Amino acid sequence: MSDKAQPETPQPATVQSGTVPVPGTIAFLGLGHMGGPMAVNLVKAGYTLTGFDVVPAALDSARSNGITTADTAADAVAGAAVVLTMLPSGKHLLDAYLGTGGAPGLLQTAATGTLFLDCSTINVDEAREAAALARAVGHRAVDAPVSGGVVGAEAGTLTFMVGALPEDFEAVKPMLEVMGKRVVHCGEHGAGQAAKICNNLILGVSMIAVSEAFVLGEKLGLTHQALFDVASAASGQCWALTTNCPVPGPVPTSPANRDYTPGFAGALMAKDLKLALNALESTGVAARLGPLASEIYDTFAAEGGAGRDFSGIITDIRDKSAH
Ligand code: NAD
Repeated sequence: MSDKAQPETPQPATVQSGTVPVPGTIAFLGLGHMGGPMAVNLVKAGYTLTGFDVVPAALDSARSNGITTADTAADAVAGAAVVLTMLPSGKHLLDAYLGTGGAPGLLQTAATGTLFLDCSTINVDEAREAAALARAVGHRAVDAPVSGGVVGAEAGTLTFMVGALPEDFEAVKPMLEVMGKRVVHCGEHGAGQAAKICNNLILGVSMIAVSEAFVLGEKLGLTHQALFDVASAASGQCWALTTNCPVPGPVPTSPANRDYTPGFAGALMAKDLKLALNALESTGVAARLGPLASEIYDTFAAEGGAGRDFSGIITDIRDKSAH
């Protein structure tokens, strides 16, 4: 089907699919590492879904996993009650919403009243802008970034942080519960993105602190296990230590035990800290560790850590320490 200037009649607000209440059919745009398995879980739960991606290989992979795909974004969106996006950045999202090169965007091609559900990780300001643009032309908007990574996307155990009006949150909650195990309503538009970057600011800074402590312990003759046994049961306790421990041994499931295969890749931590940095700057917070953590992970990603787990930062600290 070609691009449509005129929107179709909106779908019924709520239909039943299996045992899960669904707000009509879903257009799923962005079938990459995260979006691909998330879409599969929705299909498995009985949702009617049409997928689209700008990369043909992603479409092929989605089709081989049982997802119906469209040739264009406009085809996917035609007749959909929900447009779910899982894209690399806010620029990708705004370009898709508004259209580029004179082509109409999704906001124009979708039927009035469509619920735009964005699960990408983007700037808080971009999320608010995207929601305002959607609502200005009669649509509904929700931001719902995730944590849990590809493993969580495949297992349907993601955490969703949601920014939405209460009625829109209730509309998308059953769908999100198919793809995730935890769905938190954080506030109105942009609040989901705000929660995500605040959490990852804590995570980035705490991973650096835990890693510096382990390298210091090494210099002082402490075994990794001794430091872990003390700090994990004391005031140094945190997720970066007890779940994603940056040294092999104390937590057998942490990426350090498999040469820092992610996990949560350094490139994604660098991206999320850049989003946090943008928000720190635009809000005028007197932060010192956040900007430094952003710089540290930028360097880590640029110097070979992009595809390694973010806990691999400890090897960087060790390598750069006096011997
Ligand atoms: P990805 O690059 O694998 O997938 C994004 C997909 O979007 C690609 O296949 C790309 O071709 C497609 N795309 C780009 N523009 C498009 C458009 N206009 N229409 C349709 N498709 C388009 O990225 P990912 O790892 O799946 O991450 C997606 C989002 O989720 C990012 O914002 C990322 O920060 C966030 N995230 C990722 C992880 C992770 O572990 N990978 C964890 C949490 C959050």
